[in-house]
Amino acid sequence: MATSAFAPNARGYYGQFGGAFIPEMLYPNVEELRTQYLDILADPSFQQEYQQLLRDYVGRPTPLFEAKRLSAKYNTRIYLKREDLCHTGAHKVNNTVGQILLAQRLGKKRIIAETGAGQHGVATATVCALMGLECIVYMGEIDMERQKPNVYRMRLLGAEVRPATSGSKTLKDATNEAIRDWISNPVDTHYIIGSVVGPHPYPDLVARLQAVISEEMRKQLLEKTDSELPTHVVACVGGGSNAAGAFYHFLDEPTVQLVAVEAAGHGVHSGHSAATSVLGKPGIIHGSRTLLMQDEDGQITEPYSLSAGLDYPGIGPLHAYLGDSGRARFIAITDDDALRAVAELSRLEGIIPALETAHALAALDQLGAGPDDVVVINLSGRGDKDLETYLKYAEKLTTSK
Ligand SMILES: *Cc1c(COP(=O)(O)O)cnc(C)c1O
Repeated sequence: MATSAFAPNARGYYGQFGGAFIPEMLYPNVEELRTQYLDILADPSFQQEYQQLLRDYVGRPTPLFEAKRLSAKYNTRIYLKREDLCHTGAHKVNNTVGQILLAQRLGKKRIIAETGAGQHGVATATVCALMGLECIVYMGEIDMERQKPNVYRMRLLGAEVRPATSGSKTLKDATNEAIRDWISNPVDTHYIIGSVVGPHPYPDLVARLQAVISEEMRKQLLEKTDSELPTHVVACVGGGSNAAGAFYHFLDEPTVQLVAVEAAGHGVHSGHSAATSVLGKPGIIHGSRTLLMQDEDGQITEPYSLSAGLDYPGIGPLHAYLGDSGRARFIAITDDDALRAVAELSRLEGIIPALETAHALAALDQLGAGPDDVVVINLSGRGDKDLETYLKYAEKLTTSK
């Protein structure tokens, strides 16, 4: 990818987005990572261990499934990349497996992470248990209340969950606590960030670790369609890691339309939305310059989506650039349309998707794909974690509008 038009430059910029805007005291930690991550990722012993864990622990390669009844309904050819079948139920573990191996090679003994809905916290606690490393997950006090099963899962896996009690007591405050911890423990601690966000090199590191998704897609498409290239790749975007992984090996293939699907919540302009590509302006969040939902004074606006994984006020700098440069198309999907897509996939294919993933499925209506097209939808996660929400909104889980 060194020659890709969409790789970051040496300072971590994708066009005008990216970089590393960090407090001085964090500089040694980030610099250690920046100077070493590419060498470690390229090391044959790293690759051997990473590939083996992806296969035997995560369950890769995940299948590429031709969804025939869904295809018939939309009059196009639809394949689902089954990241929902990964261990722990979503793509997030691809990244945490890679970062735990990286942390070991950096000589770290202690892992910290922040989590909103708890999915990244669980994926981190999982690999820490696997490797026998101490794990501390920061989580907003309000999120801990809202996401109790994931708090229990993390504790069962041996992690310590520390409540963030300042500010709005949600993800942003948990992130601040994690950064504070990292500043105080620069030598023995690695901070596992869960999406293609944060200061350089995190967006590139996480994109490379998720790129296995599109690497497998190309091989599987060649077997099933006689071409490595689909016409469309569709993925939901919170921070953007599953989308980055699904897009990665197609970035420099201009015939492949890349479609990023954001959460419109109650409607893009309703005041209750997380459609950053429409509502965001350039600003700095979590150490990188990207599109960010903010008010006139530059204060971050609270995002809203029924889906906890898409409820984020920014997007990764790669995605900001893909939008800006016209390489990717952005679509925003409301809560209600996502719920309808949950019911549709459940009843047509016998697969209950995560609420985040349902946003990508709901975009099928707007793709304009025809019978000769090949559409790959990245099925980022399974719906088990959302069952309570699905029961609560049962009357909206219909297959018609
Ligand atoms: C966390 C999550 C997302 C959103 O995260 P990205 O970094 O944008 O991929 C999407 N789908 C599922 C199932 C998730 O758990």
